[in-house]
Amino acid sequence: MNPKLSAVKGMNDILPPESARWEWFESQVRELMRAYGYRNVRTPIVEPTALFVRGIGEVTDIVEKEMYSFTDSLNGEALTLRPENTASLVRATIEHNLLYDGGKRLWYTGPMFRHERPQRGRYRQFHQVGAEALGFAGPDVDAELILMVRRLWTMLGLHGLRLEINCLGQAPERASHRAKLIAYFEAHAAQLDEDARRRLHSNPLRILDTKNPAMQELVQDAPRLLDELGEESRAHFEGLQALLRAAGQDFVVNPRLVRGLDYYNLSVFEWVSDQLGAQGTVCAGGRYDGLIEQIGGKPAPACGWALGIERVLDLLAQAERQPEAPAPDAYVVLAYTPALPRALQVAEELRAAGLAVLMHAGGGSLKSQMKKADASGARHALIFGEAEWLAGEVSVKSLRAGGEQQQRSVALQPASLLIDGLTGA
Ligand code: ATP
Ligand code: MG
Repeated sequence: MNPKLSAVKGMNDILPPESARWEWFESQVRELMRAYGYRNVRTPIVEPTALFVRGIGEVTDIVEKEMYSFTDSLNGEALTLRPENTASLVRATIEHNLLYDGGKRLWYTGPMFRHERPQRGRYRQFHQVGAEALGFAGPDVDAELILMVRRLWTMLGLHGLRLEINCLGQAPERASHRAKLIAYFEAHAAQLDEDARRRLHSNPLRILDTKNPAMQELVQDAPRLLDELGEESRAHFEGLQALLRAAGQDFVVNPRLVRGLDYYNLSVFEWVSDQLGAQGTVCAGGRYDGLIEQIGGKPAPACGWALGIERVLDLLAQAERQPEAPAPDAYVVLAYTPALPRALQVAEELRAAGLAVLMHAGGGSLKSQMKKADASGARHALIFGEAEWLAGEVSVKSLRAGGEQQQRSVALQPASLLIDGLTGA
C-alpha cells in the first residue's frame, strides 16, 4: 500500500455542497464590481520576493515570518507565493502603464498564501476579494470603497458588521506621533511583551495592533495619532466622515486602527464582526498614496480594501444563507441500450436550450436508474425505453416531491415540444 497523501496543513479542499456557496458568493462579487465600474485584474500567484519586501514592508508580520518563499531551482530566482494581491496589482499597473490616461478602478480575487498557525478564520492558503482605486486622492473614493462593501453585505443578506475607521495622517504627523509613542512605551517598558519590545524601535505603530489582552490597557492610554493631525489630514478625515454620514453609514472612530508602514496614510478602515471569535476582521482597507512610488512608478494616490472570503463564508454559514443546491431539470434514464445515441442527442438539444441534463451512466435496471434519478434532485426523468424509441418518443415522468407522479409520452420531433414540456411544468 502506498502511504496516504493529504492536503498541506492549513490548505483546504472546497467541495460540494460547500462549493455552491463559493460560486454564489463569487457571482455576487462580480455583480457588485460591475455595479461600481471596477474591472477585473488577474496577476500571477508567484512573484519575485523583492516585490513583497518592498510592497508590504520588511518589518511586517507577513514579510518577517509568513511568506512561502523559495529559490527557483532552474535559475536561482528568489520567488514567493503571493501573501496578498495589492503589491502585484500595483506592479502590473506600473509595468503596463495603466494610469497613462487617468485613474483606474480595479478588482481581483484568488488564493493567497501565508505561513500562519491554522485556526478558525486563519489558513495558510486562503482567499481574498479586493478592490483598488488607483490615481484618485479621495476622500470621495475612500467613501465609495467603503460603501461598496456595505452593498455587498446587503446583497449577501449579512447584518451586524461594524465599520471602524481611523486617519493615519501624513509622514511628518506620523513621525511626531512615533516619537511620542516610543517615549510612552519606554516609560512603561516593564509592561511590554516580547513582540512589543521587538517592535518598539522598528515599527512602534504596530504595537497598537496587539492582540495580547494583557497589553490592552497600556495601548488604550497610548498617545493618539489623531491628536497629531494637521489641518489637511483633518479635512480629509472629516470629509470621509461627512460622506459616510450622508450615506447613512454608521461608523466608530478607532484611534488604534493602524497599518504599520510609511506608505499607508490618511484613511484606514475595517469591517468587523463579533461572530467570528478571535478573527473578527472580515475586510480591511485604506489609503496607500506612497506605494506606487515605492514599487517604482510615478507617484499617484491609491486606496483599496481586501476581504477574507473564508470569514465571509463563515458568516453566511451561520446565517444559513446557502443557495439551493443546483438540481438538474432532467435525468436521462436509459431502459433500452440502442436508444443511447438518440438519448445523447436529445440531451444536447435540451442543454442548447438552457436546461441542465444529467445522463445516467453505468447501466443497471430501470428500477435502479429511477432511484438515481430521484436522488439527483432532478425535476423530471426522461425514460428512453424500447416502445418509445420505436415510436420516436420519450417518456417524461415528473419527480417533484408531493406532486402527482404522472408519466406521459412526448414526441421527440420537433424538440420544442419536449423543451416546452420541461420548462413549462
Ligand atoms: P490579521 O490581523 O487577522 O492577521 P491582516 O492584517 O494580516 O489580518 P490583511 O492582510 O489586511 O489581514 O488581509 C485582509 C483580510 O484578509 C483580513 O481582514 C482577513 O479577513 C483576511 N485574512 C488575512 N489573513 C488570513 C488568513 N491567514 N486566513 C484567512 N483569512 C485571512
Ligand atoms: Mg495577519
